[in-house]
Amino acid sequence: MAKETVARETMTRETLARKKMTRETLSILGATGSVGSSTLAIVEQQTERFEIVALTAQNNATQLADLCRRFKPQFAAIGNETQFPKLKEALQGCDIELAAGTEGLIEAATRPAARIMAAISGFAGLAPSLAAVKQGSIVMLANKECLVSAGALFMATAAQAKCRMLPVDSEHNAIYQILDGRPLSDIKRLILTASGGPFRHFTQAELAKVTVPMATKHPIWPMGAKISIDSATLMNKGLELIEAQYLFAQPPACLDVLVHPQSIIHGLVYLHDGAVLAQMATPDMRIPIAYCLGWPHRLPTDCAPLDLEHIGKLEFEAPDIARFPCLQLAKTAMQLGGGAPTILNAANEIAVAAFQAEKIGFMQIPVLVGTVLDKLPQLIGTANGAVDSIEQVLALDSEARRIAEEEVAKLG
Ligand code: NDP
Repeated sequence: MAKETVARETMTRETLARKKMTRETLSILGATGSVGSSTLAIVEQQTERFEIVALTAQNNATQLADLCRRFKPQFAAIGNETQFPKLKEALQGCDIELAAGTEGLIEAATRPAARIMAAISGFAGLAPSLAAVKQGSIVMLANKECLVSAGALFMATAAQAKCRMLPVDSEHNAIYQILDGRPLSDIKRLILTASGGPFRHFTQAELAKVTVPMATKHPIWPMGAKISIDSATLMNKGLELIEAQYLFAQPPACLDVLVHPQSIIHGLVYLHDGAVLAQMATPDMRIPIAYCLGWPHRLPTDCAPLDLEHIGKLEFEAPDIARFPCLQLAKTAMQLGGGAPTILNAANEIAVAAFQAEKIGFMQIPVLVGTVLDKLPQLIGTANGAVDSIEQVLALDSEARRIAEEEVAKLG
Protein backbone atom coordinates (compact mmCIF):
# COMPACT_ATOMS: atom_id res chain seq x y z
CA MET A 1 0.00 0.00 0.00
CA ALA A 2 1.31 3.45 -0.92
CA LYS A 3 2.63 5.54 1.99
CA GLU A 4 0.11 8.25 1.25
CA THR A 5 -2.85 5.84 1.43
CA VAL A 6 -1.58 4.42 4.73
CA ALA A 7 -1.21 7.93 6.14
CA ARG A 8 -4.71 8.87 4.97
CA GLU A 9 -6.18 5.67 6.48
CA THR A 10 -4.39 6.28 9.77
CA MET A 11 -5.71 9.81 9.79
CA THR A 12 -9.27 8.64 9.13
CA ARG A 13 -9.00 6.14 11.94
CA GLU A 14 -7.57 8.80 14.23
CA THR A 15 -10.33 11.24 13.28
CA LEU A 16 -12.94 8.57 13.96
CA ALA A 17 -11.31 7.65 17.26
CA ARG A 18 -11.17 11.30 18.28
CA LYS A 19 -14.80 11.76 17.31
CA LYS A 20 -15.71 8.67 19.31
CA MET A 21 -13.73 9.90 22.31
CA THR A 22 -15.43 13.28 22.20
CA ARG A 23 -18.97 11.93 21.87
CA GLU A 24 -21.13 13.99 24.15
CA THR A 25 -22.97 12.20 26.92
CA LEU A 26 -26.75 12.65 26.93
CA SER A 27 -29.62 11.45 29.13
CA ILE A 28 -33.31 11.65 28.26
CA LEU A 29 -35.94 11.75 30.98
CA GLY A 30 -39.28 10.91 29.37
CA ALA A 31 -37.65 9.11 26.43
CA THR A 32 -40.86 7.40 25.28
CA GLY A 33 -42.88 10.61 24.94
CA SER A 34 -43.34 13.04 22.09
CA VAL A 35 -40.35 15.26 22.98
CA GLY A 36 -38.26 12.22 23.97
CA SER A 37 -38.95 10.52 20.63
CA SER A 38 -38.15 13.67 18.63
CA THR A 39 -34.88 14.00 20.57
CA LEU A 40 -33.91 10.42 19.84
CA ALA A 41 -34.84 10.87 16.17
CA ILE A 42 -32.21 13.64 15.97
CA VAL A 43 -29.70 11.60 17.98
CA GLU A 44 -30.17 8.69 15.56
CA GLN A 45 -28.92 10.93 12.76
CA GLN A 46 -25.95 12.06 14.85
CA THR A 47 -24.73 8.81 16.41
CA GLU A 48 -21.10 9.90 16.13
CA ARG A 49 -21.93 12.92 18.27
CA PHE A 50 -23.88 11.53 21.23
CA GLU A 51 -23.52 8.70 23.69
CA ILE A 52 -26.65 7.89 25.67
CA VAL A 53 -26.18 7.60 29.43
CA ALA A 54 -29.73 7.14 30.73
CA LEU A 55 -33.27 6.78 29.42
CA THR A 56 -36.53 6.80 31.40
CA ALA A 57 -40.24 6.09 30.95
CA GLN A 58 -43.19 5.73 33.29
CA ASN A 59 -45.34 2.82 32.04
CA ASN A 60 -44.20 1.92 28.58
CA ALA A 61 -41.73 -0.90 29.30
CA THR A 62 -41.92 -2.30 25.78
CA GLN A 63 -41.01 0.97 24.11
CA LEU A 64 -38.29 1.69 26.68
CA ALA A 65 -36.76 -1.74 26.11
CA ASP A 66 -36.84 -1.14 22.36
CA LEU A 67 -35.08 2.22 22.81
CA CYS A 68 -32.49 0.57 25.06
CA ARG A 69 -31.68 -2.00 22.38
CA ARG A 70 -31.35 0.75 19.77
CA PHE A 71 -29.44 3.37 21.76
CA LYS A 72 -27.57 1.19 24.29
CA PRO A 73 -27.68 3.48 27.35
CA GLN A 74 -25.67 2.65 30.46
CA PHE A 75 -28.80 2.94 32.61
CA ALA A 76 -32.60 2.83 32.17
CA ALA A 77 -35.38 3.46 34.67
CA ILE A 78 -39.11 2.91 34.61
CA GLY A 79 -41.22 4.95 37.03
CA ASN A 80 -44.03 2.45 37.45
CA GLU A 81 -42.53 -0.36 39.53
CA THR A 82 -45.13 -2.89 38.37
CA GLN A 83 -43.63 -2.62 34.87
CA PHE A 84 -40.11 -3.40 36.09
CA PRO A 85 -40.30 -7.21 35.62
CA LYS A 86 -41.45 -6.66 32.03
CA LEU A 87 -38.52 -4.30 31.37
CA LYS A 88 -36.03 -6.72 32.95
CA GLU A 89 -37.32 -9.65 30.94
CA ALA A 90 -37.26 -7.69 27.68
CA LEU A 91 -33.64 -6.65 28.27
CA GLN A 92 -32.30 -9.97 29.55
CA GLY A 93 -28.67 -10.42 28.51
CA CYS A 94 -28.21 -6.72 27.69
CA ASP A 95 -25.45 -4.94 29.56
CA ILE A 96 -27.69 -2.14 30.87
CA GLU A 97 -28.28 -1.26 34.52
CA LEU A 98 -31.99 -1.12 35.25
CA ALA A 99 -34.01 0.54 38.01
CA ALA A 100 -37.60 1.38 38.87
CA GLY A 101 -39.71 3.87 40.82
CA THR A 102 -39.07 7.49 41.69
CA GLU A 103 -35.61 6.59 43.01
CA GLY A 104 -34.77 5.07 39.63
CA LEU A 105 -35.87 8.23 37.81
CA ILE A 106 -33.78 10.39 40.14
CA GLU A 107 -30.81 8.09 39.65
CA ALA A 108 -31.19 8.50 35.87
CA ALA A 109 -31.19 12.28 36.28
CA THR A 110 -28.19 12.13 38.61
CA ARG A 111 -25.93 9.99 36.38
CA PRO A 112 -23.23 12.34 35.05
CA ALA A 113 -24.12 13.51 31.54
CA ALA A 114 -23.09 16.60 29.60
CA ARG A 115 -26.70 17.23 28.50
CA ILE A 116 -29.96 16.10 30.01
CA MET A 117 -33.31 16.37 28.27
CA ALA A 118 -36.00 16.91 30.94
CA ALA A 119 -39.12 15.78 29.08
CA ILE A 120 -41.29 14.05 31.67
CA SER A 121 -44.82 15.41 31.50
CA GLY A 122 -46.53 17.13 34.41
CA PHE A 123 -45.62 17.81 38.04
CA ALA A 124 -44.09 14.30 38.19
CA GLY A 125 -41.17 15.81 36.27
CA LEU A 126 -40.26 18.21 39.08
CA ALA A 127 -38.06 15.97 41.26
CA PRO A 128 -36.11 14.35 38.35
CA SER A 129 -35.69 17.72 36.58
CA LEU A 130 -34.47 19.30 39.81
CA ALA A 131 -31.99 16.43 40.26
CA ALA A 132 -30.78 17.03 36.67
CA VAL A 133 -30.33 20.74 37.32
CA LYS A 134 -28.29 20.04 40.47
CA GLN A 135 -25.69 18.26 38.31
CA GLY A 136 -24.73 21.59 36.81
CA SER A 137 -24.63 20.27 33.27
CA ILE A 138 -26.73 21.55 30.36
CA VAL A 139 -30.40 20.87 31.05
CA MET A 140 -32.74 21.07 28.08
CA LEU A 141 -35.99 21.88 29.81
CA ALA A 142 -39.21 20.71 28.15
CA ASN A 143 -41.16 20.07 31.36
CA LYS A 144 -42.86 23.41 32.00
CA GLU A 145 -44.89 22.25 35.00
CA CYS A 146 -41.76 22.24 37.18
CA LEU A 147 -41.25 25.96 36.53
CA VAL A 148 -44.94 26.73 37.06
CA SER A 149 -45.08 24.82 40.36
CA ALA A 150 -41.70 25.71 41.75
CA GLY A 151 -40.23 28.42 39.52
CA ALA A 152 -38.29 30.42 42.11
CA LEU A 153 -36.87 27.30 43.78
CA PHE A 154 -36.02 25.75 40.41
CA MET A 155 -34.23 28.83 39.06
CA ALA A 156 -32.33 29.36 42.34
CA THR A 157 -31.18 25.71 42.29
CA ALA A 158 -30.05 26.06 38.67
CA ALA A 159 -28.12 29.27 39.43
CA GLN A 160 -26.44 27.72 42.46
CA ALA A 161 -25.38 24.66 40.46
CA LYS A 162 -24.25 26.87 37.54
CA CYS A 163 -26.53 24.83 35.31
CA ARG A 164 -27.22 26.19 31.82
CA MET A 165 -30.91 25.75 31.19
CA LEU A 166 -31.94 25.71 27.55
CA PRO A 167 -35.69 26.07 26.97
CA VAL A 168 -37.17 23.43 24.66
CA ASP A 169 -40.67 24.92 24.44
CA SER A 170 -40.69 26.49 20.96
CA GLU A 171 -41.78 29.96 22.13
CA HIS A 172 -39.19 30.17 24.92
CA ASN A 173 -36.58 28.64 22.69
CA ALA A 174 -37.36 31.35 20.11
CA ILE A 175 -36.93 34.09 22.71
CA TYR A 176 -33.72 32.48 23.97
CA GLN A 177 -32.39 32.48 20.39
CA ILE A 178 -33.39 36.11 19.87
CA LEU A 179 -31.82 37.27 23.12
CA ASP A 180 -28.59 35.35 22.44
CA GLY A 181 -26.85 36.78 25.49
CA ARG A 182 -28.45 40.25 25.22
CA PRO A 183 -28.94 41.80 28.67
CA LEU A 184 -32.44 41.23 30.05
CA SER A 185 -32.58 44.96 30.81
CA ASP A 186 -32.92 45.60 27.03
CA ILE A 187 -36.33 43.88 27.03
CA LYS A 188 -39.50 45.91 27.06
CA ARG A 189 -41.97 43.09 26.40
CA LEU A 190 -41.92 39.42 25.51
CA ILE A 191 -44.68 37.96 23.37
CA LEU A 192 -45.41 34.26 23.12
CA THR A 193 -47.37 33.28 20.05
CA ALA A 194 -50.19 30.72 20.20
CA SER A 195 -51.74 28.77 17.36
CA GLY A 196 -55.09 29.26 19.10
CA GLY A 197 -55.58 25.49 19.33
CA PRO A 198 -58.05 23.29 17.47
CA PHE A 199 -61.12 25.17 18.71
CA ARG A 200 -60.16 28.74 17.85
CA HIS A 201 -63.43 29.34 16.00
CA PHE A 202 -65.70 27.27 18.28
CA THR A 203 -68.70 28.91 19.96
CA GLN A 204 -69.31 28.44 23.69
CA ALA A 205 -71.94 25.82 22.84
CA GLU A 206 -69.54 23.92 20.59
CA LEU A 207 -66.78 24.11 23.20
CA ALA A 208 -69.10 22.51 25.76
CA LYS A 209 -69.38 19.44 23.49
CA VAL A 210 -65.64 18.91 22.91
CA THR A 211 -64.63 15.28 23.44
CA VAL A 212 -61.30 13.76 24.52
CA PRO A 213 -60.32 12.55 20.99
CA MET A 214 -61.09 16.04 19.63
CA ALA A 215 -58.97 17.75 22.30
CA THR A 216 -55.98 15.43 22.01
CA LYS A 217 -55.45 16.09 18.29
CA HIS A 218 -53.65 19.37 17.76
CA PRO A 219 -53.87 20.72 14.20
CA ILE A 220 -50.23 21.91 14.03
CA TRP A 221 -48.13 20.34 16.77
CA PRO A 222 -48.29 16.54 17.39
CA MET A 223 -47.76 16.29 21.17
CA GLY A 224 -48.52 14.19 24.24
CA ALA A 225 -52.13 14.03 25.48
CA LYS A 226 -51.81 16.38 28.48
CA ILE A 227 -50.15 19.25 26.62
CA SER A 228 -52.57 18.80 23.69
CA ILE A 229 -55.55 19.29 26.02
CA ASP A 230 -53.77 22.24 27.66
CA SER A 231 -53.28 23.73 24.19
CA ALA A 232 -56.96 23.27 23.40
CA THR A 233 -58.04 25.14 26.58
CA LEU A 234 -55.20 27.70 26.14
CA MET A 235 -54.00 26.74 29.63
CA ASN A 236 -50.78 25.72 27.91
CA LYS A 237 -50.18 29.32 26.89
CA GLY A 238 -50.92 30.44 30.44
CA LEU A 239 -48.42 27.91 31.82
CA GLU A 240 -45.94 29.19 29.25
CA LEU A 241 -46.37 32.78 30.47
CA ILE A 242 -45.41 31.65 33.97
CA GLU A 243 -42.53 29.62 32.50
CA ALA A 244 -41.31 32.76 30.66
CA GLN A 245 -41.63 34.84 33.83
CA TYR A 246 -39.03 32.63 35.50
CA LEU A 247 -36.81 31.82 32.52
CA PHE A 248 -36.40 35.44 31.48
CA ALA A 249 -36.86 37.13 34.88
CA GLN A 250 -39.69 39.37 33.65
CA PRO A 251 -42.58 40.88 35.60
CA PRO A 252 -46.09 39.72 34.54
CA ALA A 253 -46.85 43.11 32.95
CA CYS A 254 -44.06 42.55 30.39
CA LEU A 255 -45.40 39.20 29.17
CA ASP A 256 -48.26 38.56 26.81
CA VAL A 257 -49.77 36.18 24.28
CA LEU A 258 -50.65 36.75 20.63
CA VAL A 259 -52.68 34.28 18.59
CA HIS A 260 -50.89 33.50 15.34
CA PRO A 261 -52.66 30.58 13.63
CA GLN A 262 -49.85 29.74 11.17
CA SER A 263 -47.35 29.19 14.04
CA ILE A 264 -44.44 30.49 11.97
CA ILE A 265 -43.32 33.23 14.36
CA HIS A 266 -42.72 31.58 17.72
CA GLY A 267 -41.66 34.49 19.90
CA LEU A 268 -41.31 38.26 19.73
CA VAL A 269 -39.01 40.50 21.75
CA TYR A 270 -39.91 44.19 22.01
CA LEU A 271 -36.85 46.28 22.86
CA HIS A 272 -36.79 49.70 24.51
CA ASP A 273 -35.61 51.43 21.33
CA GLY A 274 -38.78 50.39 19.46
CA ALA A 275 -37.27 47.46 17.55
CA VAL A 276 -39.13 44.15 17.60
CA LEU A 277 -37.18 40.94 17.02
CA ALA A 278 -38.95 37.76 15.94
CA GLN A 279 -37.86 34.17 15.43
CA MET A 280 -39.42 32.15 12.60
CA ALA A 281 -39.33 28.48 11.71
CA THR A 282 -41.52 25.73 10.34
CA PRO A 283 -43.62 24.50 13.29
CA ASP A 284 -41.63 21.36 14.07
CA MET A 285 -40.40 20.56 17.59
CA ARG A 286 -37.25 19.01 16.15
CA ILE A 287 -35.97 22.53 15.42
CA PRO A 288 -35.89 23.82 19.05
CA ILE A 289 -34.77 20.37 20.22
CA ALA A 290 -31.87 20.39 17.72
CA TYR A 291 -30.98 23.89 18.90
CA CYS A 292 -30.72 22.59 22.47
CA LEU A 293 -28.78 19.48 21.45
CA GLY A 294 -26.29 21.49 19.44
CA TRP A 295 -25.95 24.65 21.53
CA PRO A 296 -23.79 26.71 21.11
CA HIS A 297 -23.50 25.19 17.62
CA ARG A 298 -26.25 24.43 15.13
CA LEU A 299 -27.11 20.88 14.17
CA PRO A 300 -28.55 20.14 10.74
CA THR A 301 -32.11 18.69 10.67
CA ASP A 302 -34.21 17.32 7.84
CA CYS A 303 -37.17 19.52 8.84
CA ALA A 304 -39.13 21.08 5.98
CA PRO A 305 -37.61 24.45 5.06
CA LEU A 306 -39.77 27.48 5.79
CA ASP A 307 -41.58 28.42 2.57
CA LEU A 308 -43.00 31.91 3.16
CA GLU A 309 -44.02 32.30 -0.47
CA HIS A 310 -46.25 29.25 -0.13
CA ILE A 311 -47.63 30.37 3.25
CA GLY A 312 -48.49 33.77 1.76
CA LYS A 313 -49.66 35.62 4.83
CA LEU A 314 -49.17 35.62 8.58
CA GLU A 315 -52.19 36.47 10.74
CA PHE A 316 -52.41 37.72 14.30
CA GLU A 317 -55.26 38.27 16.74
CA ALA A 318 -55.80 38.76 20.47
CA PRO A 319 -56.75 35.63 22.44
CA ASP A 320 -60.44 35.40 23.41
CA ILE A 321 -60.41 35.10 27.17
CA ALA A 322 -64.21 34.76 27.39
CA ARG A 323 -64.16 31.50 25.43
CA PHE A 324 -60.79 30.38 26.81
CA PRO A 325 -60.84 31.39 30.50
CA CYS A 326 -57.89 29.14 31.39
CA LEU A 327 -55.53 31.75 29.97
CA GLN A 328 -56.95 34.41 32.29
CA LEU A 329 -56.75 32.02 35.27
CA ALA A 330 -53.06 31.47 34.58
CA LYS A 331 -52.47 35.22 34.23
CA THR A 332 -54.19 35.75 37.59
CA ALA A 333 -52.04 33.06 39.22
CA MET A 334 -48.91 34.63 37.71
CA GLN A 335 -49.87 38.05 39.10
CA LEU A 336 -50.69 36.60 42.54
CA GLY A 337 -47.35 34.77 42.59
CA GLY A 338 -46.19 32.78 45.63
CA GLY A 339 -48.06 29.48 45.78
CA ALA A 340 -50.81 30.48 43.31
CA PRO A 341 -49.12 28.98 40.20
CA THR A 342 -48.47 25.76 42.18
CA ILE A 343 -52.19 25.55 42.96
CA LEU A 344 -53.13 26.40 39.37
CA ASN A 345 -50.91 23.64 38.02
CA ALA A 346 -52.15 21.02 40.50
CA ALA A 347 -55.81 21.86 39.87
CA ASN A 348 -55.25 21.82 36.11
CA GLU A 349 -53.57 18.40 36.19
CA ILE A 350 -56.50 16.96 38.16
CA ALA A 351 -59.03 18.68 35.86
CA VAL A 352 -57.31 17.41 32.68
CA ALA A 353 -57.13 13.87 34.08
CA ALA A 354 -60.84 14.06 35.04
CA PHE A 355 -61.70 15.26 31.53
CA GLN A 356 -59.65 12.39 30.04
CA ALA A 357 -61.56 9.98 32.29
CA GLU A 358 -64.82 11.61 31.06
CA LYS A 359 -65.75 12.63 34.61
CA ILE A 360 -66.07 16.29 33.65
CA GLY A 361 -66.68 18.18 30.42
CA PHE A 362 -64.18 20.27 28.49
CA MET A 363 -65.57 23.60 29.73
CA GLN A 364 -65.58 22.33 33.30
CA ILE A 365 -61.77 22.35 33.25
CA PRO A 366 -61.60 26.17 33.79
CA VAL A 367 -64.52 25.99 36.25
CA LEU A 368 -62.64 23.48 38.38
CA VAL A 369 -59.31 25.30 38.18
CA GLY A 370 -61.02 28.61 39.06
CA THR A 371 -62.78 27.07 42.05
CA VAL A 372 -59.55 25.65 43.46
CA LEU A 373 -57.65 28.90 42.80
CA ASP A 374 -60.39 30.78 44.68
CA LYS A 375 -59.50 28.67 47.73
CA LEU A 376 -56.05 30.25 47.76
CA PRO A 377 -56.57 31.91 51.19
CA GLN A 378 -57.52 28.51 52.66
CA LEU A 379 -54.65 26.74 50.86
CA ILE A 380 -52.19 29.39 51.94
CA GLY A 381 -52.38 27.78 55.40
CA THR A 382 -50.51 24.79 53.92
CA ALA A 383 -46.84 25.32 54.82
CA ASN A 384 -47.76 29.02 55.20
CA GLY A 385 -48.39 29.11 51.46
CA ALA A 386 -44.65 29.28 50.89
CA VAL A 387 -42.98 27.46 48.03
CA ASP A 388 -39.37 28.02 49.02
CA SER A 389 -38.49 24.38 49.60
CA ILE A 390 -39.37 21.21 47.75
CA GLU A 391 -41.26 20.00 50.84
CA GLN A 392 -43.45 23.13 50.82
CA VAL A 393 -44.13 22.78 47.09
CA LEU A 394 -45.09 19.13 47.54
CA ALA A 395 -47.39 19.96 50.49
CA LEU A 396 -49.18 22.75 48.64
CA ASP A 397 -49.46 20.71 45.45
CA SER A 398 -50.89 17.74 47.32
CA GLU A 399 -53.45 19.83 49.24
CA ALA A 400 -54.55 21.60 46.02
CA ARG A 401 -54.95 18.18 44.36
CA ARG A 402 -57.06 16.93 47.27
CA ILE A 403 -59.39 19.91 46.97
CA ALA A 404 -59.50 19.57 43.18
CA GLU A 405 -60.50 15.90 43.51
CA GLU A 406 -63.35 16.94 45.83
CA GLU A 407 -64.50 19.44 43.20
CA VAL A 408 -64.35 16.75 40.49
CA ALA A 409 -66.68 14.62 42.62
CA LYS A 410 -69.10 17.57 42.99
CA LEU A 411 -69.00 18.50 39.28
CA GLY A 412 -69.15 14.88 38.09
P1 NDP B 1 -45.74 12.73 26.52
O1 NDP B 1 -46.98 12.46 27.26
O2 NDP B 1 -45.70 12.44 25.07
O3 NDP B 1 -44.51 11.96 27.19
C1 NDP B 1 -44.27 12.06 28.56
C2 NDP B 1 -43.04 11.25 28.94
O4 NDP B 1 -42.93 11.29 30.37
C3 NDP B 1 -43.13 9.77 28.58
O5 NDP B 1 -41.84 9.24 28.43
C4 NDP B 1 -43.80 9.17 29.81
O6 NDP B 1 -43.55 7.78 29.97
C5 NDP B 1 -43.14 9.97 30.92
N1 NDP B 1 -44.00 10.11 32.08
C6 NDP B 1 -45.34 10.34 32.11
N2 NDP B 1 -45.77 10.40 33.38
C7 NDP B 1 -44.70 10.21 34.17
C8 NDP B 1 -44.51 10.11 35.57
N3 NDP B 1 -45.54 10.24 36.43
N4 NDP B 1 -43.27 9.90 36.04
C9 NDP B 1 -42.22 9.75 35.18
N5 NDP B 1 -42.33 9.80 33.84
C10 NDP B 1 -43.56 10.03 33.33
O7 NDP B 1 -45.39 14.27 26.80
P2 NDP B 1 -44.67 15.30 25.83
O8 NDP B 1 -43.41 14.72 25.30
O9 NDP B 1 -45.66 15.86 24.88
O10 NDP B 1 -44.34 16.48 26.85
C11 NDP B 1 -43.32 16.33 27.83
C12 NDP B 1 -43.12 17.68 28.52
O11 NDP B 1 -42.64 18.60 27.54
C13 NDP B 1 -44.42 18.29 29.08
O12 NDP B 1 -44.14 18.97 30.25
C14 NDP B 1 -44.84 19.28 27.99
O13 NDP B 1 -45.58 20.35 28.50
C15 NDP B 1 -43.50 19.73 27.46
N6 NDP B 1 -43.53 20.16 26.06
C16 NDP B 1 -43.93 19.30 25.09
C17 NDP B 1 -43.97 19.70 23.76
C18 NDP B 1 -44.35 18.76 22.67
O14 NDP B 1 -44.28 19.14 21.49
N7 NDP B 1 -44.78 17.55 22.95
C19 NDP B 1 -43.60 21.07 23.38
C20 NDP B 1 -43.15 21.88 24.50
C21 NDP B 1 -43.12 21.44 25.78
P3 NDP B 1 -44.60 6.66 29.37
O15 NDP B 1 -44.51 6.79 27.87
O16 NDP B 1 -44.07 5.38 29.86
O17 NDP B 1 -45.94 7.03 29.90
